[in-house]
Amino acid sequence: MRIALLADIHANREAFEAVLARLDKHRIDQVALLGDIVGYGPDPAFCTEKAMELVERGALGVIGNHDAAIEGDSSDMNSIARAAIDWSRGRLDAEHRRFLSGLPETLRVGDALFVHASARSPRGWEYITGPQEAERSLRATDARFTFVGHVHKPQLWRLTGLGVAIGHEPITGFEIPLAKSFVWLGVIGAVGQPRDGSTAAAFAILDLKRQSIQFERVPYDHFTTCRKVREAGLPEPLATRLLRGR
Ligand code: ZN
Repeated sequence: MRIALLADIHANREAFEAVLARLDKHRIDQVALLGDIVGYGPDPAFCTEKAMELVERGALGVIGNHDAAIEGDSSDMNSIARAAIDWSRGRLDAEHRRFLSGLPETLRVGDALFVHASARSPRGWEYITGPQEAERSLRATDARFTFVGHVHKPQLWRLTGLGVAIGHEPITGFEIPLAKSFVWLGVIGAVGQPRDGSTAAAFAILDLKRQSIQFERVPYDHFTTCRKVREAGLPEPLATRLLRGR
């Protein structure tokens, strides 16, 4: 079973389409959307509809904090994120909003758990920024593999027998074996708003049979997305972020 892991699409149509086109090369059985389909980007309706189509055809999807904020409370977001959520609400119809707010917090396929931020508290939206946060997520579940998004920087962690989280380099384009003797946490970089210094869309391929993960990047036309962010009147840092990849 090969599952494509896509996180943090963030209403970026060009990045989403580039990743979906690339999946044809990867012999995928399943797609898992790890949350934040909307927010920040200029194409919330298109990306929500595409996600709805995928879920209708059997894809998995969990809720992200931006998806939850569309129908819920955005007061704890920073002013830029909140401005984009307010703008996005007006571009989504009732069906889009129902779909986004109705996404489950977690999903499990065999040994693999999918959640947007951390297994410790799916609605707590904790960021995995270091070994302590990784350890807290790893200890919170009996799943051998947990896959999250939220941070927009690819990471790979394993929990040792001593209960310590050790980080691994999430090298792009190589199949990384997930050794049986450990419990693993993969943080998938963002499709639609990378923050690790690369402008290319990030995703990953999980192979449950071979017990491996492969982190991937796809360059896309981020200049067009940047132009659309500006034309929409969204906050300028959301445009420059796409140009810098951070
Ligand atoms: Zn996000």
